Amino acid sequence: MRALVTGGAGFIGSHLVDELIAQGYTVTVLDDLSQGKKENIAHHIPGPSLHFVEGSVTDPALVESLVSEADVVYHLAAVVGVYYVLRDPLRTIYVNTVGTEVVLRAAFQHRKRALVASSSEVYGKSDALPLSENNDGVFGPPQVTRWCYALSKALDEHLALAYCKKGLEVSVVRYFNAYGPRLDPLGYGSVIARFITQALEGKPITVYGDGSQTRSFTYVSDTVQGTILAASLPQAVGNVFNIGNGRETSVLQVAQLVKEMTGSPSPIVFVPYEEAYGSNFEESLHRLPDTSKAEKLLGFKAKVPLEEGLKRTIAWFRENMR
Ligand code: UDP
Repeated sequence: MRALVTGGAGFIGSHLVDELIAQGYTVTVLDDLSQGKKENIAHHIPGPSLHFVEGSVTDPALVESLVSEADVVYHLAAVVGVYYVLRDPLRTIYVNTVGTEVVLRAAFQHRKRALVASSSEVYGKSDALPLSENNDGVFGPPQVTRWCYALSKALDEHLALAYCKKGLEVSVVRYFNAYGPRLDPLGYGSVIARFITQALEGKPITVYGDGSQTRSFTYVSDTVQGTILAASLPQAVGNVFNIGNGRETSVLQVAQLVKEMTGSPSPIVFVPYEEAYGSNFEESLHRLPDTSKAEKLLGFKAKVPLEEGLKRTIAWFRENMR
């Protein structure tokens, strides 16, 4: 089997590549290296199992030729992370919607199975916990830049389902705060990466707001398992799945855990949202997935507890932080 992984040099993408290769796939990675890093997949290069192509998912001719050679298409390439979204909303919207349309159109034309990576952001500020796939998304106004990411991902889901209606075999996964080795130590887009870096450098651990906001942090091997199941099982076609850990943790708890587990002298400090993200910012306060659909249809359940995942992630940061 040959898999095309867009965004395969990124954090989740590179772990997906590892697992697909371990399962015997030959993998082509398409990545523009804007957020992905070649070193994330360097251990497979040169090698018979991995073919790396530097390029963009917004390039229709390139995407079409790569899709035509694959059996299954994993579409993970996107602009992700609040920092990048706020820095360049136009690029976020363009890459995340046009790129997805280009990939889906090629998969449709060549009759290839496809998977689209979406996000728990599509629930926006919904407080209907736990969040199940058919819940409403609740978004702030377009003047609040943050929501362009959520809406771009919601449109991606619409595109996937619209192509499905035309006959494309596609499924969608909504990721809940994946974390693990290879997170960018700069921490753009991951509070866990930021806190570990701050703790290891002895700098203040910056909790935004009062730290009571929660996320369901999901170790990346669980994220990858859910992704492969959703792209492989026939009953997944035409469906959207929450792929996340069923445990909700506050940001303050994460800060305390990271401080304790690294043995860091760093103080935990509270930073107003305005100082962190500017005045025109809105926060998603709680994110807890209802994973019963993924459990029932895919047999998916996140396995790695936060403490274990943090242990592995901290160990990787200790070895790889420069
Ligand atoms: N956060 C924080 N300190 C930081 C970075 C992030 O308290 O230095 C908070 C952020 O406000 C949010 C949570 O951590 O409530 C998760 O942020 P992240 O960027 O990891 O993911 P997302 O907001 O996309 O879920």
